[in-house]
Amino acid sequence: ATPAAVMVGTGRAAELGVLFRRGLALETLAQVNTICLDKTGTLTSGKPTVGEIRADNPRQVLELAAALESASEHPLARAIVRAAREKEISLPSVSHFQATAGRGVAGVVHGQQVLLGSAAWMREQGIATDTCDLVDMQSVGTWVYLAVEGQMSGNILIQDQLRPEAGAVIRYLTRMGLRLVMITGDSQAAARQLAESLQLPIFHAEVLPQDKANIVKQLQAQGGKVAFVGDGINDAPALAQADVGLAMATGTDIAMETADLTLTHGDLAALVTAIQASRKTMATIR
Ligand code: ADP
Ligand code: MG
Repeated sequence: ATPAAVMVGTGRAAELGVLFRRGLALETLAQVNTICLDKTGTLTSGKPTVGEIRADNPRQVLELAAALESASEHPLARAIVRAAREKEISLPSVSHFQATAGRGVAGVVHGQQVLLGSAAWMREQGIATDTCDLVDMQSVGTWVYLAVEGQMSGNILIQDQLRPEAGAVIRYLTRMGLRLVMITGDSQAAARQLAESLQLPIFHAEVLPQDKANIVKQLQAQGGKVAFVGDGINDAPALAQADVGLAMATGTDIAMETADLTLTHGDLAALVTAIQASRKTMATIR
């Protein structure tokens, strides 16, 4: 490969919102035939807001949830903390805080063990949940569950927006002949809703961080040259496993440190740009 052509390729890409952090990424990206996409923060804006709260005492549920989330940097956490601040709820202190990537957060508040996270996680902890349905098909929603001392005490609906460019980017990548796979830690219902609205034929839901990497490995074993696009701590193992890891600049530092490339404007359209730039550069060299 001529270094000059690669430099021109990477320089042009940088102007368009793609930062190559590893030298070989431009070459590898040209060969990619499969693209895995994380959902929250990657296909969605990652700036979610709290919608409905279902509980006997919604204010108390929000207080406990926000207390736990004030120690988390998950996009869902920021939504919950903001909602509590808007309602001028003062947050009690938390001890024994613990975050489980792809699952939720836990801690002791007012001397009681409090858990906040996905329905799948509650089930794993032996806590019964009524599964909440996603009725509103317009926005992208996910329910999180709050348990106090092993008892469900409420559900919080967190609504996110699809990134405005997501639909066009998915259609474009499909037309370029790439195989697209969505991989998310979120529930089946939330994943299906989004996959249908984006016409993404393949998706995996309720996937733990290590299993995101395992799915990438399986695709590679089937002959896939795999790119993974993500934003979270939970995406780091998959970003490392993929042939090319791409991080959204709007995401966490860990994702960006692990990735080969950063989409610097947090704009998914730069993904198309990056692939086109890499194919073009490699064609020039050959
Ligand atoms: P994604 O793969 O779509 O980016 P994550 O793996 O980060 O999603 O999270 C998966 C699910 O785990 C979330 O939809 C949520 O139900 C739960 N979860 C993870 N972290 C938190 C948190 N800090 N607070 C509440 N729920 C969480
Ligand atoms: Mg994410």
